[in-house]
Amino acid sequence: MENVANRVVLIRQETYERREVRCRIERIIDELGGANRFFRPGMRVLLKPNLLAAAAPEKRVTTDPSVVWAVGAILKDLGVVCTIGDSPGIDPFASVAAASGMTAVAKELGIPCIELSRSVPFPTPECSVFHGIELSSAVMESDAVVNLPKLKTHGQMMLTLGVKNLFGCVVAQRKAEWHYKVGLRRETFASLLLDIAAVVRPALTILDGIVGMEGDGPRNGTPRAFGLLAGAADPLALDLVLSRMLGCPPNDFPLARAARERGIEPAAESVALAGDVDASFRFANVVLPPQDSLHLLPSFLDGFGKSFLVSRPVAVRGACRGCGKCAFVCPAGAVRVDARGPVFDYRKCIRCYCCQEMCPHNAIRFRKGALLTLMRLFGR
Ligand code: SF4
Ligand code: SF4
Repeated sequence: MENVANRVVLIRQETYERREVRCRIERIIDELGGANRFFRPGMRVLLKPNLLAAAAPEKRVTTDPSVVWAVGAILKDLGVVCTIGDSPGIDPFASVAAASGMTAVAKELGIPCIELSRSVPFPTPECSVFHGIELSSAVMESDAVVNLPKLKTHGQMMLTLGVKNLFGCVVAQRKAEWHYKVGLRRETFASLLLDIAAVVRPALTILDGIVGMEGDGPRNGTPRAFGLLAGAADPLALDLVLSRMLGCPPNDFPLARAARERGIEPAAESVALAGDVDASFRFANVVLPPQDSLHLLPSFLDGFGKSFLVSRPVAVRGACRGCGKCAFVCPAGAVRVDARGPVFDYRKCIRCYCCQEMCPHNAIRFRKGALLTLMRLFGR
């Protein structure tokens, strides 16, 4: 019999009509072995959507409230005790929860909606490459986590899907500390994400790709109707399947490279697809962030690569409103804001793109490294 542990379910869904969304998610859970495989009455479950910033659902920055409602309603009917929780990037939690529709969903379901706070140490997994992983105590106090990511592009990681969403279990400014600690190499950050996923071990991941984001994601990109809900017990298997469909081959996807380096990449033949979409399916012309990682260079050339290959953040003239969020969030202290907008110290900058991610006015863009631009000019 086929092993459902490595199954990835992809279901077509074009709208956020609640009853339809609930039906599709019930189908995903059935395809993954049924609700009883994951849940039992009285269990305490943390629902972890993507609540990156205070943005209305139509901006497609956050997991749609209909998806969170549907999962919450299904679990409530099973007698599961749910809490919605996340730790946003920089905006106050109350405003993020209200703007994204989570406060209303929580009220309707009669469940709490909490900021993931109080950072506590977690035992690191055997394969860990980091020491001292600390996550919100709410993860430890739950019997299970249900991971509810949004399908979006991401400047540093190319895509934010199931595994990346769990970085929200790291409390507030600790996120910046980790960015600084892992530095320039995207695979190192991806490896940290794999560690966090191994610690959290979500029981289930249900991804909202009905309308996601392409281009300058995860906050300032363009909404795109992907028409998809996806689910899996293993978020890494889900991410690897979707990244291929989105036009990001494994060699360009830092998470896939890190998983391969660590020997934990599930073999393609061990991942079974179920639902409406088969393995040959590809979304056409998805606009992805620049693929300019340093992974092909030896580490002693990092300085050269950073200066000439990797994209750097630059100010968009006239767009800055002086809120200071970019400077506040920068883990390297590489941004200051003056009357004309953000000013970057590229020697300090570790190219994490948190400033671009957190700018509420799309006033920071990427500029490709000079060498890449030249190679393109000469048709290489
Ligand atoms: S660049 Fe964006 S985040 Fe930085 S101060 Fe200007 S508007 Fe705010
Ligand atoms: S300037 Fe931007 S990209 Fe550079 S380290 Fe700071 S937040 Fe990261």
